[in-house]
Amino acid sequence: MTAGARGTISAMNRPVRDLSRPTKPSSAVQSRMAEETAARAAAAGPAPALPEDAGVAAELRTELAEVVDSLAPELVALSRDLHAHPEVGHAEHHAVAAVAELLRAHGVSPSVGVYSMDTALRAEIGADAAAERGERQDAGAPQPPASPHVPTMAILAEYDALPGVGHGCGHNVMCANSVGAFLALAELERRRPGVLPGRVILQTTPAEESDTAKEILAQRGMLDGVDAAIQTHAYAHDLADQTWLGVRRMSAVYTGIPSHASSQPFMGRNALDAATLALTGLGLLRQQILPMDRVHAVVDDGGRVANVIPERAELNLMVRSKYPETLKDLVGRVEDLLHGAALMTGTGVEIITDANTNEMPVRSNGPLLQAWVRSQRERGRDPLPAGVVPETIAAGTDFGNVSLRVPGIHPLIKVTDRDDVALHTREMAAAAGSPTGDDAAVDGAYGLAAVALDWLHDAGLRDAVRADFEAAGGAVDVAGFWEE
Ligand SMILES: [Zn+2]
Ligand SMILES: [Zn+2]
Repeated sequence: MTAGARGTISAMNRPVRDLSRPTKPSSAVQSRMAEETAARAAAAGPAPALPEDAGVAAELRTELAEVVDSLAPELVALSRDLHAHPEVGHAEHHAVAAVAELLRAHGVSPSVGVYSMDTALRAEIGADAAAERGERQDAGAPQPPASPHVPTMAILAEYDALPGVGHGCGHNVMCANSVGAFLALAELERRRPGVLPGRVILQTTPAEESDTAKEILAQRGMLDGVDAAIQTHAYAHDLADQTWLGVRRMSAVYTGIPSHASSQPFMGRNALDAATLALTGLGLLRQQILPMDRVHAVVDDGGRVANVIPERAELNLMVRSKYPETLKDLVGRVEDLLHGAALMTGTGVEIITDANTNEMPVRSNGPLLQAWVRSQRERGRDPLPAGVVPETIAAGTDFGNVSLRVPGIHPLIKVTDRDDVALHTREMAAAAGSPTGDDAAVDGAYGLAAVALDWLHDAGLRDAVRADFEAAGGAVDVAGFWEE
């Protein structure tokens, strides 16, 4: 039999595509996902909501809505101002000043630069908060927990942007949600002294995109005395709940021995070979991991010239999984693999991880989500229940680190009329500064304020929130998670 009889000639005749550019990814999967999402939404029915007789009384919710609508121009202005001045993590100086100014205009004195983080701001209202409103400009744990303890809700606010993409994650809208909710509750308290039977804290949390700042803030006391924490996230759908993966950031530095690549290669130990084997191993590992696990890496350093055996190579990796325990397991397997590449090549390896525990998966609190869903229906929105939008689109957030310490929610609010706009794109940035983004800024402010009021006014709801949190595993030692 000849080679020609096996068809090699026809393969050789196949036209060569234009190799100057990449092939275009098929949109078939996205089309299918959109169809399947629509079908699941129809089949799932409405997300569970708090019953009418639970939470805060309907008349107070009506008054809250009036207050939020009266604040709407200022909330939209804040969202647009942040959108026009995008700042990356820990450089949110314009944003923190804008939030502080708005709070002061409404008679609330914030502390700026709390927990030794220049662009972190904190303010409090409600029971026992009056004595703690002194303005501070710097460091340290700003407030001792109220004593005796009163129910305390923290509303967290993000305002960092992405380099090159601006507010492609919509944090300007989210900041307006959180600041707006806090101001609405402050105004309600001014109108009706005593309407807050507990404390409400506004805590801005810098650098969500670039750092695990909420972990640092939590370790420095941000959640001391806090019973629950809430915030929103911008998105292309209204979603009560969605999967957010935990992530471990790692670097692997391989150390070899340089030598002349032609005359004395046998005297070298090749660090780039180790990095190559590690990448190959990761590629093969992917077949044996969970569908929601993610492992991705880039080569930060791979040598300088081809005629020297590379002495140093560095891989930058992110390992993600859906649950804390599966994340820990996967990180262990990746570390074995990284060690194995060193063993195969006779190189040394050092695995470097962030000093601060990386992002944990988000654990959403069921009863608080029900309060959120009710609030959004009152604004004409209908958040989809969990499981409708495929979790394969999951990313990560440092709110996960908060949600394993105290009960919390991180629902998504729709900022665009197009359901195909992805986070971290220029299209999402445009939506976050558009009229649909403005509507979300106001509706989300009402939603977070209503959730806080529901929780403060209903001891049964607070018990249910705590029971749901305990049933899901209770508080996790996040700071010590990787040391066990
Ligand atoms: Zn983002
Ligand atoms: Zn984000």
